[in-house]
Amino acid sequence: MTSLLVRGASRVVTPSGTTARRGEALGELAKYEGAVIRCEDEEIVFVGPSDEHDGKFPPPDEVLDAAGGCVLPGFVDPHTHPVWAGSREDEFNRRLRGESYMAIARSGGGINATVRATRAAGFDELLGGTLPRLDTFLLHGTTTVEAKSGYGLDLATEVRMLEVIRETDRRHPVDLVPTCLAAHEVPPEHRDDPERWVRLLVETIHPEIARLGLAEAVDVFCEEGVFDLDQTRRLLADAGRYGWGIHLHADELTPLGGAELAVELGALSADHLVHVTDRGIEALAGSDTVAVLLPGTSFFLRSSYAPARRMIEAGCAVALATDCNPGSSPTESMPMILALATLAMGMTVEEAITAATLNTAAAIGRADAIGSLEVGKHADLVVLWEPTHFHVVYHYGINPIRHVVKNGRHVVKNGRLIH
Ligand SMILES: [Zn+2]
Repeated sequence: MTSLLVRGASRVVTPSGTTARRGEALGELAKYEGAVIRCEDEEIVFVGPSDEHDGKFPPPDEVLDAAGGCVLPGFVDPHTHPVWAGSREDEFNRRLRGESYMAIARSGGGINATVRATRAAGFDELLGGTLPRLDTFLLHGTTTVEAKSGYGLDLATEVRMLEVIRETDRRHPVDLVPTCLAAHEVPPEHRDDPERWVRLLVETIHPEIARLGLAEAVDVFCEEGVFDLDQTRRLLADAGRYGWGIHLHADELTPLGGAELAVELGALSADHLVHVTDRGIEALAGSDTVAVLLPGTSFFLRSSYAPARRMIEAGCAVALATDCNPGSSPTESMPMILALATLAMGMTVEEAITAATLNTAAAIGRADAIGSLEVGKHADLVVLWEPTHFHVVYHYGINPIRHVVKNGRHVVKNGRLIH
């Protein structure tokens, strides 16, 4: 057994509990002035006053001096597409100059550019691109990442992407939670007959990925011109049989009713929700399905934001994610997402912190194990350079994270990786 004591913090700030928080409770954080946190192996065994700790436990193997910084739970990012080849910064610049996404897609850009590059890349090239991205997640305070496939759109490449996610999880301190998103788009070779692609997913690709044990959850891009409600229902009909949780890209571009469908299917999360309807909000509020909002995508595409305040007031379990991907949100930074959640969507700092920790843990079915700093949970925490939790957002555009502890190990020290 190895022990690590985090002491010298100005305060420890954390949501509490093992389920998503909503309504008024979303913004209720426990604040322990001057508390210490003791980790033994991967677990938190004590949070409280220093003298109480010293009377109860032997001296620790290692001490992390927080030097007056504020301690928060590690961020949990519940919606990312972190495995890809190629880059689309040229397309970004074309959009800035006024070209439409449709025009860019017609000239070979858009998601199909990433699919082409990812299909052409071998395992080592994909792994070599993914590992440094995980370093960036970790340096910005994220300790668990949900990771989707979805740039293969054929069996071999979808499997390769999920194998890269599994290998990255093995090699990297950040925990990755794999999701099969083979239903991300209709690939060019099936554009003439999308139903053929739906059948291929249902009859071959999903069963094979389930057989290989490469995913914990499944996701579908439910959107006008991609997969409609009926196709989405068929794509997800076997999820329970495979033991997969369900995520849904829902109501991002049009109010199709994805939120209502996610609730009907008992999904872990409905994600995006920029165009969620009042009925969708009502359905989410009456369910355990977490509403995962992705303000980085709205920011990067210069489009509108999900109605976070209305959803919080209606009682939805709101959470936040980066949507890290090369086309619409190329960032690994949860502090950036919290800045947008507050400044662009009107959430308070406290709400945003819960929405990026405990509620995101719930969105991936892990709220019993991570997402808050409580005895019995994994020792996943961050220490800020500055003394209050407000600095995560207030001091914006920089990295506010000084230290990261992942599963009881000190892995980022003074802003540098030491794993
Ligand atoms: Zn996405």
